[in-house]
Amino acid sequence: MNQARQMLKQVYGFDSFRKGQEDIIGGLLEGRDTLAILPTGGGKSVCYQLPALLLPGTTIVVSPLISLMKDQVDALNRLGVSAAYLNSSLDAATYRDVIRKTSQGVYKLLYVAPERLDGTMFESLASQLHIPLIAIDEAHCVSQWGHDFRPSYRQLAGWIGRLENRPPVAAFTATATPEVSQDIADMLGLRKPNVFVTGFARTNLSLSVVTGTDRRKFLRDYLAQRPDQSGIVYTATRKEAEEVYEDLTKLGISAGKYHGGLSDTERADTQEKFRFDDNRVMVATNAFGMGIDKPNVRFVVHWQMPSDVESYYQEAGRAGRDGEESECVLLFEPQDVQVQRFLIERSTADAERRSIQLNKLYTMMHYSRSDRCLLQFIVSYFGEEDVPSCGKCSNCLDQSAKVDITEDSRKALSCVGRLKGRFGVSLVAKVLKGSREKRIIEFGLDRLSTYGLLRNWVEKEITDLIYYLVAEGYLRISEGEYPTVSLAAEALPVLEGKITVTRRQSAAAKRRTSEGN
Ligand code: ADP
Repeated sequence: MNQARQMLKQVYGFDSFRKGQEDIIGGLLEGRDTLAILPTGGGKSVCYQLPALLLPGTTIVVSPLISLMKDQVDALNRLGVSAAYLNSSLDAATYRDVIRKTSQGVYKLLYVAPERLDGTMFESLASQLHIPLIAIDEAHCVSQWGHDFRPSYRQLAGWIGRLENRPPVAAFTATATPEVSQDIADMLGLRKPNVFVTGFARTNLSLSVVTGTDRRKFLRDYLAQRPDQSGIVYTATRKEAEEVYEDLTKLGISAGKYHGGLSDTERADTQEKFRFDDNRVMVATNAFGMGIDKPNVRFVVHWQMPSDVESYYQEAGRAGRDGEESECVLLFEPQDVQVQRFLIERSTADAERRSIQLNKLYTMMHYSRSDRCLLQFIVSYFGEEDVPSCGKCSNCLDQSAKVDITEDSRKALSCVGRLKGRFGVSLVAKVLKGSREKRIIEFGLDRLSTYGLLRNWVEKEITDLIYYLVAEGYLRISEGEYPTVSLAAEALPVLEGKITVTRRQSAAAKRRTSEGN
């Protein structure tokens, strides 16, 4: 390991290893298969690049994204390390050239897109090489349970198995729950892997969830308070990215936009401008990010909730890569859940996959609603325990006591019970409100005993209460084109008066304010 430490200083200029890096590298140098779950920015590249430099031969790095490969190879070349990549972006002549040089043993590291591995050209190349290590980046792509399944990753185990002397395999991901980790190990055929889950608590990030606010006004004020800071605003759709971008530009804020509808040149251009601080704010969809390594991103604002905690933490985690204090703000409105649900239900994925995605969505919703330390919530979701509460997320800072909302919850739950899972959230809210809407009268719902039980409430707040009860697990929302709400088993003890339901005072108080009394 001394040699590794020297190399760390000599090649990268770093004085010491980060948490986890030393153990991972040590294991790899001993030839152990490894599954390393390190958060974005945790420093995983060093974990396989250093062994690649220390071991004889050419290490193969499997990576799914073309732009990421190029960035990595450029960075290595700048450090004086010979490395190259093979993917569909190369023209035929360059491709052949890389193959030739690889067979001559020119490269210490060769980055390869997964779909390239299966070709006969690559197989015959691999048979000539001494491969001391195979590193698999974004390894969660092999798992159906992950949030970014890629069928080409499924071929990996077969390819590795066909290699003459199977080298140690190191799988890396930033985003794996315990089930996904197990699945990765199985799918890649890892042999008694060293498993590391470490460094998820990015203690320089202050997480917050902001609900019930006018997003545009919030963002304007937020940016006005930080005139010198650079950050990213993530939107769920291209259309929103355009709108927010327009809005900021009108305000004279130097902003760029990035989404899948722009040309490669436009995207490369706006990415550069952001990287070199010519633009202060990047408004982007999730198309932006893989492989950006801008250290001084001071904030990441999510205009809308993303579809799962993995994506959220990955995107939010682009703040503060330099270790300085940074903020991650999630703007959350209950109806955003519906938008995401709609996208999942309309997707072409099979039923099992859709139900996995829906569960992930509900966990994300729990995050948005939870009273727990937000950092702890995320970290424990990834399987890392014993992390102290952060003391600076919006939940840690919100000291307000919880209030008992059992009575109101029982009214809402019994109304849902009476409607027998036949209607959606908005109709349940209308019944509780005592609406005279045509549908309600036609269905005779105005004759229910629970009709108008919350007539003093604003309808939106009733909807909000129902979603809170969903997030807390008392209610369930069905799948399908017309999602309906029904009682979960957990509702029973509430209805029977055996347990109480609580909610943070601030949330309950907001309701009273909007009611105007
Ligand atoms: P990721 O895990 O997201 O791939 P990277 O490997 O790109 O992360 O590393 C994130 C940042 O941390 C990079 O800027 C890298 O140079 C830096 N880094 C990695 N290891 C160390 C270290 N031991 N000491 C200081 N900086 C490090």
